[in-house]
Amino acid sequence: MDEFSFIQSIKQHSYKQSSLIKGVGDDAAIIRQSSEDVVVAVDTFVENVHFSKETTEPYHIGHRVLAANISDMAAMGATPAFYLVSIVLSKHYSSKEVEEIFEGMRSIANRYGMDLIGGDTVSGQEMSISVTVIGYVSQKRARYRSDAREKDIVFVTGTLGDSQAGFHILNNASTYQDETYYIEKHQQPIPRVEFAKRLEEIDRVALNDISDGIGNEAAEIAEASQVTLHLFEDKIPTSASYSQFPSELQEKWKLFGGEDFELVGTVSKDKWTYVQEAANDIGIPVTEIGYVSQYKNNYVYLHKDNRHIPLKKDGYNHLK
Ligand code: ADP
Ligand code: MG
Repeated sequence: MDEFSFIQSIKQHSYKQSSLIKGVGDDAAIIRQSSEDVVVAVDTFVENVHFSKETTEPYHIGHRVLAANISDMAAMGATPAFYLVSIVLSKHYSSKEVEEIFEGMRSIANRYGMDLIGGDTVSGQEMSISVTVIGYVSQKRARYRSDAREKDIVFVTGTLGDSQAGFHILNNASTYQDETYYIEKHQQPIPRVEFAKRLEEIDRVALNDISDGIGNEAAEIAEASQVTLHLFEDKIPTSASYSQFPSELQEKWKLFGGEDFELVGTVSKDKWTYVQEAANDIGIPVTEIGYVSQYKNNYVYLHKDNRHIPLKKDGYNHLK
C-alpha cells in the first residue's frame, strides 16, 4: 500500500474535539486556543526493544503505545484530547498488521474522546512508533513530581505487578488463577485519567505514573521534591490471586515490574479522605502505602520486617 492510501485508511472521518480546526490532510494540524493549559508528551516504541512480534499482537502494540502516553497525561492531572503518530514501517509488518496497530490505538483513543490529528509515515529497517499526545489541564492544577512535602501520605492506585504477571503467564504455559485478568492487564492497561481529573479540587498533589516500577517512580517524586519517601512493603496492594506466583517474582514485579500504569502520589493527611472518596466514586482501589519525611540519605526506603532498606532505582533502565 502506498503512503497516500495508508494515510487515507487511518484518517478519521469526523472529529470529536471541538477545539480542533484542522486534522489530518494538510501540512499541519490546528487547534484553537482554550483557557486551559495545554499539556504535551511524546513516547517512542521500537521493535525488539519495547515490543516484539513474537510476544505482542499488533492490536495490543497499538493499545499499549497510546496507553503509555495517556498515562503521562493522567500523571499530570490532564485530560488527553489529541494524538499524532510518527511511524517507521518495516517489512516485518504487513499493511493489515499496521492497520491493526492503529485500530488498537483507536480503541483506547475512543474511550477518552481523543482524535488522531496528524503524524508522519516513512519506511525503515525496524518498526518504530512515536506517539505525541496533547491534553488539557485547568490552570494551576497540573500535578508535578516536585510537589511532595514532609508528612504527606504516599498512596498508589489499583494493584501492582499484574502486568508482569500477565506477561509471565503468556510466556510460561501452565494453569493459573484469573489468567484472563492478568493477561488483559498486560495487553490492554487502562490509565487512571478519570481518577487524576477527579482530584482537581485539591490544590496540591504530587503524581507520577508507574511505567517502570514503583521503586523508580517514587524515587523520581522524592528527587524532584528533595524529600524521602518511605514505603511499607506489606502495604503495597496486589491482586487477590497474586500469591499464586513464586514469592521472589511477586516481590520483583510489584516493586520493579512496571507497565501497570497505576499512579503513585503524595498528598497532605487532611486531603486523604477526599482522595479515598474520589477513588471510591470512580470504582478503583487507592491504598496508603507510606509517608514522606525530610530527606534522609536516600530518596526511597522500603520498610520490611522491621528494617528499612534503601530502594535502588531498579526499574528497567535503558542506559544500564
Ligand atoms: P507532509 O509531506 O506535508 O509532511 P504527509 O504526506 O507526511 O505530509 O502527511 C499528510 C497528512 O497525513 C498530514 O496531515 C499528516 O499529519 C498526516 N499523516 C501522515 N502520516 C500519518 C500517521 N502515521 N498518522 C496520522 N497522520 C498521518
Ligand atoms: Mg510528512
